[in-house]
Order: sequence, then structure tokens, then C-alpha cells
Amino acid sequence: MTKELICICCPMGCRMTIELDGEKVVSVTGNTCKRGSAYAVTELTAPVRMVTTTVRTADGVSIPVKTKEPVPKERIFDCVSEIKKAEVTLPVRVGDVIIENVASTGIPVVAAKTVPCR
Ligand code: SF4
Repeated sequence: MTKELICICCPMGCRMTIELDGEKVVSVTGNTCKRGSAYAVTELTAPVRMVTTTVRTADGVSIPVKTKEPVPKERIFDCVSEIKKAEVTLPVRVGDVIIENVASTGIPVVAAKTVPCR
């Protein structure tokens, strides 16, 4: 079986063809660099995504946050659900850890923006 995939690792957007034997990647063609083949293997065997969303302070200020690393795609809902329950206190600096181990993934959630006291 073959699958088509566009690499999202850089703006070139190489169109790749991935040959599979069951769930095993046999070959990747069309990629210009090694990042493309690594992305293809991850995407087809254990896809991951960065999670970006917001948390709120007690008085309703919205703080943009993101996972520090991509999380397994099937855990995104759990991560967003936990992040939505978090409450932060100002001030917040970009990179501050908001949740140390979101949804038991081992991955922290950090502030994506500095928000001073109001
Ligand atoms: S394969 Fe390499 S050059 Fe092509 S889009 Fe991916 S990162 Fe960019």
C-alpha cells in the first residue's frame, strides 16, 4: 500500500509517497531532506501534534499556552480537557510552566505569552 503525504516541517511542503507493508514504513520518496522521512514515519506510525489553547485567570484573563513538545495525537482531547481546568495567577511570563505533566504524557504545558499583572 502507498500513501501520499505533504511534509509540514518547512515551507517547501514536499509531496511524499510512503510505501507501507502493513503498518511498517518500507520507503519514503519525494522528501528533499531527512526531516521529511522522519516526519512521514512518525505521522504514519505514532502521530503527534503540538497543542495550543488558552487558560484563564480567576478574573477571566485569557493566557495563550502550548505543550512544550508534541503530544500523541490520540491524547490531544485529554490534554485540552485538563488544560481547560487549569487556572493561573498573573503575572505570567512566556515559558512559565502552567502544568508539569499534562494528562500524564510527561509533557509540560507552558505559557506562550507574557501577561503582566492587571
Ligand atoms: S522534506 Fe525537508 S525540505 Fe521538504 S518540506 Fe520536509 S523539511 Fe522541508
